[in-house]
Amino acid sequence: MGDLLAGKVALITGGGRGIGREIARVFAREGACVAAADVNLEAATDTIGQLPTEGLALSMDVADIASVQAGVDAIVARFGRLDILVNNAGITRDNLLIRMDESEWDAVININLKGVFNCCKVASRPMMKARRGRIVSISSVVGVQGNAGQVNYSASKAGVLGITKTLARELASRAITVNAVAPGFIETDMTAKLSPEARQAMLSQVPLARPGVPEDVANAVLFLASDQAAYVTGQVIQVNGGMAM
Ligand code: NAP
Repeated sequence: MGDLLAGKVALITGGGRGIGREIARVFAREGACVAAADVNLEAATDTIGQLPTEGLALSMDVADIASVQAGVDAIVARFGRLDILVNNAGITRDNLLIRMDESEWDAVININLKGVFNCCKVASRPMMKARRGRIVSISSVVGVQGNAGQVNYSASKAGVLGITKTLARELASRAITVNAVAPGFIETDMTAKLSPEARQAMLSQVPLARPGVPEDVANAVLFLASDQAAYVTGQVIQVNGGMAM
């Protein structure tokens, strides 16, 4: 156990599996009380059950602001504060532009982009009152350099970088920092869907010649969420094995 986040309360969206679950594990190891929020409550409950610190599992759809508000209210009622928001929930609905239908565009934008707006809007209130806070959003290498077949996803993840830089400016006077982590190719259920050819094509672009693991991302999020990053805001840390520089 460390104490980088001792006494802090963190909300992690999409905390039921993958990178979100690993962030929950690393935060709890560093002393944080974690609220894991997911559309899949059973998965969020599993995450919390594995942690050494007190936690809260929440059923939350980040695309629905009423659901986000109910979750943040539950956190404040239980712990009396909210110090850290990690916008991690995300989906893919890949297709080439000419084949992509409106529902694939809307689903990804609603969860990956509007979801970040909703969570920042709701979670920043208790942070502004407390005059302290940390917001860390998970973007993607695809939001930085694009990727054929992911026009919806790349737009959403580039949008997350825009939200990050704007809110860093808006919230700085209240000592709330806002940063992003842009992972490359990380081994999770999301990337397990890729064909062997797509996987090989991704890996061939990685100078460190291996896929990342969720802990690689969680360690960067931990730094940005901690007091050690008090003078870092509006930044993007790329965790991609050198895939984009
Ligand atoms: P994952 O394994 O698919 O996990 C995503 C989690 O988000 C799931 O638990 C999912 O719930 C949840 N979720 C989906 N829609 C939601 C909603 N509307 N509200 C709340 N929770 C929702 O994905 P991951 O690989 O860990 O990715 C985590 C984040 O990193 C995402 O934002 C992703 O875009 C980003 N990222 C991943 C990679 C990578 O290589 N894996 C690279 C760059 C960026 P269900 O269980 O119901 O689906």
